[in-house]
This record gives sequence, structure tokens and C-alpha cells, in this order.
Amino acid sequence: MESAGAMDSIEQVKRRIAAARHVTVLTGAGISADSGIPTFRGEDGLWRDFRAEDLATPEAFARDPKLVWEWYDWRRGIIASKSPNPGHRALAGLEKKVPGFTLITQNVDGFHALAGSRDPIELHGNIWKVRCTRCGEVSINRDVPIPIPPHCETGEPACGGLLRPHIVWFGEALFESDIQASMGALQACDLMLVVGTSGVVWPAASFAPVARSAGAYVVEVNPNPSALSDQVDQVLQGRASEVLPRLL
Ligand code: NAD
Repeated sequence: MESAGAMDSIEQVKRRIAAARHVTVLTGAGISADSGIPTFRGEDGLWRDFRAEDLATPEAFARDPKLVWEWYDWRRGIIASKSPNPGHRALAGLEKKVPGFTLITQNVDGFHALAGSRDPIELHGNIWKVRCTRCGEVSINRDVPIPIPPHCETGEPACGGLLRPHIVWFGEALFESDIQASMGALQACDLMLVVGTSGVVWPAASFAPVARSAGAYVVEVNPNPSALSDQVDQVLQGRASEVLPRLL
């Protein structure tokens, strides 16, 4: 049975949501864990004994694009077979209830938009987009499996350049427009929810402290303690798919 303290915390956050003028949400791999998508740092985060940090880098792609594409093809296959969960849908619902709302996600699975969120800031890109390493063209590609390695078909005759995932890899800079939009939302919000992120990937790890020092009340939703837990005002310990629907 749930403790009276935990119920009080949910009620308190609900009151804060009802009074909020702008809510900003940051989500990480944990919200999609409830859809069956492995997180990077969970027990099922390894692929053929490689860690994500060994594959999601420009150096890994330069060394062995085929290997990196095989890993993405495996991840695309998993994501294609799953769907958004009540946690994603609750955030789409929350967006309709508050006057100002910004959703920032570190996830690349595209589930927030599928669940009905309008225009989430996809800080780390989207696994269904590819970018040509020669002509720079970004396009949507939903092939599962994808030919490995894929080549650019833009233009006449076709460009033929090697395609890469349109993902911000470890060691790469985020898109400036996404940082600007995120910073604006962190400064503007009176309530921030931090959902399912370990808080170790920068610069997203700095977002909760930024919002808090700008005056926001910051709430974490996570079944486990994270690097952010002692920097927030309230921790709602639990799974995103269970806790978020209760906040609405
Ligand atoms: P992470 O793997 O470092 O951490 C996941 C966090 O989620 C942990 O704190 C864990 O305790 C928490 N968690 C686990 N189950 C949960 C649940 N049911 N509800 C709520 N929280 C839960 O993930 P991160 O912090 O997002 O950073 C890793 C990077 O991995 C990000 O850049 C992200 O883009 C990428 N990634 C994305 C996906 C995806 O798109 N679905 C999947 C794996 C990794």
C-alpha cells in the first residue's frame, strides 16, 4: 500500500500544476523504459558487449560505419515494435491543461510526438532521421531493416554520400536553436518535471539546476535515485507510466 507521505507529495505537485503558468518537462530514456525500450545505463543497455558510449560517437562511425549502423538498425527494430505508454500520453494531456508548456526530450525514439505532444524539443535528434555526410540533407527514413550502410539518394544523379543517423552523438554539440529554446523554457517555467533521466549526460544534466535557480519548483520522477535527486525540490519515486497519469 502507498504511504500517506507519497500521496501527499502527488497532491502537492498536482496543486502546483494547477497554479502553474508555464511547465517545462525534461524526459530521458526512463520514460520509454516502460514501453520496453532499453535505457543506456540499465541492465539491458548493452549490445554485443558494446556500451552506448563506444558506439554513439563520431570516432566510432568514422572507424566502422557498418557496425554503428547495425546497432542503430537493431534499436530502430525495437522501437518500431513498441509504442508510447501512459507516461508519454499524460505529458501530451498536460500540455493541453497549462497555459505555457515546453517538452524537452533526450530521447530519440519519437514517442512523444506519436503520443500527441506538439513540437517537442528533441535535444539529441531522432532515430528516424538520417543526414548525408556529403551534402548535409536531412530526411526521414523508416526502413527496418535499413540497407547497411545506407547512401544518400538526393539529387539527380543521386548524391551517393554515406548517410549517418541524425543524432547528436557523445562529443558533438547540440543544435544551437534547441539550446536557445530550452534555456528560454527553463527560465520561463514556474514548475519543472524531470522524468527518467540519470542526469549524467550534459548539458541536459544542468537543466534542472538552471530552472531551479531561475525560481522554478523542480520535481523528479524516477524509480531510482539519480545524479539530480538532491538538486530538486521534490522526488516522486516511481515509474513514469504510473506516476505521470496520476498528476493529471
Ligand atoms: P539513462 O539510460 O542514463 O538513464 C535512465 C534513467 O531512467 C535512470 O535514472 C533510471 O533510474 C530511470 N528509469 C528507469 N526506468 C524508469 C521508469 N520506468 N520511469 C522513470 N524513470 C525510469 O538515460 P538518459 O538520462 O536519458 O541519458 C542517456 C542518453 O541515452 C540520452 O542521450 C538519450 O538520448 C539516450 N537514449 C535514448 C533512448 C530512447 O530514445 N528511448 C533510449 C536509450 C538511451
